[in-house]
Amino acid sequence: MPVWDDLVGQERVQKQLAAAARDADALVTAITDGTAPPPSSKMTHAWLFTGPPGSGRSTAARAFAAALQCTSPDRALGGEPGCGFCDGCHTTLIGTHADVQIVRTDLLSIGVKETRDLVRRAQLSPAVGRWQVIVLEDADRLTEGAGNVILKAVEEPAPRTVWLLCAPSLEDVLPTIRSRCRHLTLSTPSVDAVADVLVRRDGIEPAVAAAVARATQGHIDRARRLATDETARARRSAVLKLPLRVDDVGGCLKAAQELVDAAAEDAKQVAEEVDTKETEELRAALGAGAGAGSRMPRGTAGVMKELEDRQKRRRTRTQRDTLDLALTDLTGFYRDVLALQLGSSVAIANEEIRPDLDRVARASGPERTLRRIEAIIACRDALDRNVAPLLAVEAMTMSLRAG
Ligand SMILES: [Zn+2]
Repeated sequence: MPVWDDLVGQERVQKQLAAAARDADALVTAITDGTAPPPSSKMTHAWLFTGPPGSGRSTAARAFAAALQCTSPDRALGGEPGCGFCDGCHTTLIGTHADVQIVRTDLLSIGVKETRDLVRRAQLSPAVGRWQVIVLEDADRLTEGAGNVILKAVEEPAPRTVWLLCAPSLEDVLPTIRSRCRHLTLSTPSVDAVADVLVRRDGIEPAVAAAVARATQGHIDRARRLATDETARARRSAVLKLPLRVDDVGGCLKAAQELVDAAAEDAKQVAEEVDTKETEELRAALGAGAGAGSRMPRGTAGVMKELEDRQKRRRTRTQRDTLDLALTDLTGFYRDVLALQLGSSVAIANEEIRPDLDRVARASGPERTLRRIEAIIACRDALDRNVAPLLAVEAMTMSLRAG
């Protein structure tokens, strides 16, 4: 069915979801008609989608939400839900369905306050749709307190409420929550499957599609972005030059500074695009006059401060995401080097810079390459532990040094 079209290379998961959507449809019909529910059902009230970045966790959750809301008349004739064109499917897919709440965060964590609203919503019957669907795209970012807030709602849901949680892996989700969900694992789609979807859905030239799919190793969103966004391409090729610039201490420190600056630049850009507008909107809502200098009404300082904190946390996350992307590209570079050194027949991800890969491969041995990959992993760990970005990145570039 068309709702599954954006899901790439996940046939097994898709089959399971389609079967659940079919049973869910029968279940709602029974509830609304007041008849006995079907004896066995593949539908359940809480689902957890896990899989590596780019595997399409949220795409799968959203497609399932659409199939649950499908109102196509074909269903009554024995057809599968998920036509992609009826009002239920369409509004869910574009994100405007009244009974589908999609929670995506640009912060490092989701707190108790946000989750309370979700729990309230979960208790309601759907307003117009067949189900009340809550998609929590970053379930791994729930704080422990927030997790405890939604626990009961996940455990004893309203009859027509369904929770769809997404996270990179099972370990990223609080044990109490994951044990109450049905678990679906998505895998990284094959390079060919990604290239195929870029050609078919996005109209990208086959040669370009193949190159970006290979370069991003099956990460569909990144592949699409590389194919369509020149800045992203420039950023990536700059990162891939880094291994050739770390010959001496000066080069290492300079390369580290540039990586961190680029990340800070991204964060600043997001801030400029979003923060100012957000602040102005809140000021207006709180009844302040126009212009940044005008006085705020009494008692609104706390709310303004809260927004400032939120914006600051968002900048931190943007900066970290950009650095993370650079580290992923660097790891790919050295993985290619290792493949060349070992004479492995694994497909090279960065074929377009083959001479650079050859040069680094000849100048060192596989053991050295492994140590370099370890240094990149150590940098990522340090960033996770909130080590100052420049310090962490400098330690890494120093370890990547030649010799
Ligand atoms: Zn439909």
